[in-house]
Amino acid sequence: MRTLYRHIAELVRGIKVLFFPELCLVCGRKLSDGERVMCTRCRVTMPLTIRSADDLYRRFDNHFEPVCAVSFFNYVHGSAHSRIVLGIKFHGQRRAAVEMGRWFGRRLREEGSPVCSADMLVPLPLSRGRALERGFNQSELIARGIGMETGVPVETRAVARVRYSDPQSLQRSRTDRFRNVTGVFAVTRPELLAGRHIVIVDDVVTTGSTVTSCATAILEAVPDCRISVAALSAVSSIRG
Ligand SMILES: [Zn+2]
Repeated sequence: MRTLYRHIAELVRGIKVLFFPELCLVCGRKLSDGERVMCTRCRVTMPLTIRSADDLYRRFDNHFEPVCAVSFFNYVHGSAHSRIVLGIKFHGQRRAAVEMGRWFGRRLREEGSPVCSADMLVPLPLSRGRALERGFNQSELIARGIGMETGVPVETRAVARVRYSDPQSLQRSRTDRFRNVTGVFAVTRPELLAGRHIVIVDDVVTTGSTVTSCATAILEAVPDCRISVAALSAVSSIRG
């Protein structure tokens, strides 16, 4: 009986692959067995951030002092690899979000990043409306992937988005971006954060204004905690 089930499961998988083959999120080619999210070629050409513990540090140090601030790969607008972030954000690629988080987490572990010894991963919260509309928070899925590889737990109850902001991409200048996200976040459970090392997790960091707004809200409510930033990707050249 068990063998029969196994055969049926295999058959269903075969049919699924035939009609819904898994495609590389970057180049669109059919994935081979063992390949996940992207094909081997796109994986090796991935524009990974140069090994450096703090490639994002300068984006935040005027506003708060992160323990560390790291990203996994460079986001270049219009590039093939930017499709990973777009696929995760707008096309419901939940599995890709977790897989990318795991890859990022493995690298953080190999580098002995301070992220691995943090107390919790706090995904940047979406507004309730946006979360309902999208059905998931991509930063939370990325954080879950990082957590699987580093053992750091994910905490989603402590911080909430209390005000809706216009899309950051519509903001012209750096000042506009900061103004747009000021007062957007609030700490809902300060007791969970007190005295802890918290890693804010985001999918893509541009100027860093959204993460800064979240970090500032946390530090105002819980001054004795320490904050790090882990972003799946970061826009390398900043305009405005
Ligand atoms: Zn590919």
